[in-house]
Amino acid sequence: MKPSPFVKPYCVTAGKGFRLKDFAPDDTAGLHSKEKAEELLRHGVTRLSELQEELYAQGRWSLLLIFQAMDAAGKDGTIKHVMSGVNPQGCEVVSFKVPSSQELDHDFLWRTTRRLPERGRIGIFNRSYYEETLVVRVHPELLARQKLPPPLVTKDIWKERFADINAFERYLSRNGVLIRKFFLQLSRKEQKKRFLARLDVPEKNWKFSLADAQERQHWPAYMAAYEDMIRHTATEHAPWYVVPADHKWFTRLVVAEAIIETLDSLRLGYPKVDEAKRKELAAARRTLD
Ligand code: ATP
Ligand code: MG
Repeated sequence: MKPSPFVKPYCVTAGKGFRLKDFAPDDTAGLHSKEKAEELLRHGVTRLSELQEELYAQGRWSLLLIFQAMDAAGKDGTIKHVMSGVNPQGCEVVSFKVPSSQELDHDFLWRTTRRLPERGRIGIFNRSYYEETLVVRVHPELLARQKLPPPLVTKDIWKERFADINAFERYLSRNGVLIRKFFLQLSRKEQKKRFLARLDVPEKNWKFSLADAQERQHWPAYMAAYEDMIRHTATEHAPWYVVPADHKWFTRLVVAEAIIETLDSLRLGYPKVDEAKRKELAAARRTLD
């Protein structure tokens, strides 16, 4: 498999020195045809379904895909399109919303840890523990609700959260969980356009709330939080992909190809049948005959 030209430019494996402004939300890596992108995506979806069958048959590795983005960046649509060929038995999508009071009674990795994918499966986190360094950082009142013992809440808390997340992801990767993280990077201008569409088109009204419009006012604080998050948590074993999100057709292609590259790198194939199993299959054939 030759590497996809749509993956490498957006993959960050070492966060040090990372700057968001080096990445353009409207980039398409020289691809200008939506039709071409959709054709490539169709091939990708087919390939992904084969790779998932192999992942499942092997039952060794699991794949954790994390999606983070500002509202209207297209997380839901990307997940829907990219995973459209995947067997639902081997895949679970989990959305993490404002934590419940039960969830707030636990450490911040508790609720996501419970939903990690089993061996052979793909787990998709639509938002994740990274919200703990994003929305919670932008809104200090959310941190206050977390019932942490006061001596533990110091100015170092974000640095500590990054360190804990890195340790956790290293631990998972050493246990066979492949981690790939996607930040769908939308421009503020395109977000406004999509919000207005949600107001104008009755079928899209349900997706919009006043809170979404208010959250937009914190845009610079969010971007600073995203940048700092990627600086501290992009690693070789759990890279961030900074995916341009102003063109949905391009976002979907980049995400699909990144997942395919990841699974391809495992060189999965189907499990080899050993001598004992071959005898068992021969006996099964005799029984059927
Ligand atoms: P989305 O916006 O992901 O498409 P949604 O609009 O269906 O989902 P929302 O009710 O907006 O659902 O739920 C997501 C909200 O939950 C976001 O505003 C997000 O910031 C918030 N959230 C997620 N995790 C946390 C957390 N750990 N602490 C506080 N808020 C969180
Ligand atoms: Mg929302």
